[in-house]
Amino acid sequence: MNLKNTLLSLTLVGATSSFPVVMASARHVMNGDVAEQTGQLETSAVALTAEEEADMLFMREEEKLARDVYILLYDQWADAVFDNIAESEQRHMDSMAVLLNTYGLTDPVQDSRVGAFTNPDLATLFTTLTVRGQVSQLEALGVGAFIEEVDMRDIQAAIDNSGHADITQTYENLLRGSRNHLRAFVRTIENLGVVYEAQVLPQSDVDAIVDSPIEIGGS
Ligand code: ZN
Ligand code: ZN
Repeated sequence: MNLKNTLLSLTLVGATSSFPVVMASARHVMNGDVAEQTGQLETSAVALTAEEEADMLFMREEEKLARDVYILLYDQWADAVFDNIAESEQRHMDSMAVLLNTYGLTDPVQDSRVGAFTNPDLATLFTTLTVRGQVSQLEALGVGAFIEEVDMRDIQAAIDNSGHADITQTYENLLRGSRNHLRAFVRTIENLGVVYEAQVLPQSDVDAIVDSPIEIGGS
């Protein structure tokens, strides 16, 4: 559904008192979730599927996972690659926050401090990755490349689920950023004389990304 048209419709019929009830019912049917959201209708969120909503909340925190791990790894190893990419992840977090706000979703990032997560799986992953990243600088760079591969897998899945052009566009920017980040981590690893092996994605996908030039945008 086109958001501008939705908002226009709401403006036009806003004086009709029964309208929000009708829209709320439609949302419940779409999401198969009657217990949630009652009385909290957000006009722009009406057309989101439950899957789109879950993806947006997850992606906001997954970008935070990347930022937080890179902040810690920069503290540990003082390698500028972590500092530069942590700043980029902050921008990715910000762009997801804009989307959550647009669609009236509650931000799962209630505590922006490093290591604070609402999603327990991401909290566990944060611990696992920061422990691994303290082993050596090479392991830390491997953690960076791992995070980017996981991000690309998850962002692509979210793009496949998305029926909204604005959401898809934000994800495409995150994906472009992740490809550039993977290139940076792999280049740094290979500068240490180590051949990088794919950890999540098919090796051929990783090779194709690493062997292609840095892309403009997405940061
Ligand atoms: Zn990112
Ligand atoms: Zn990244």
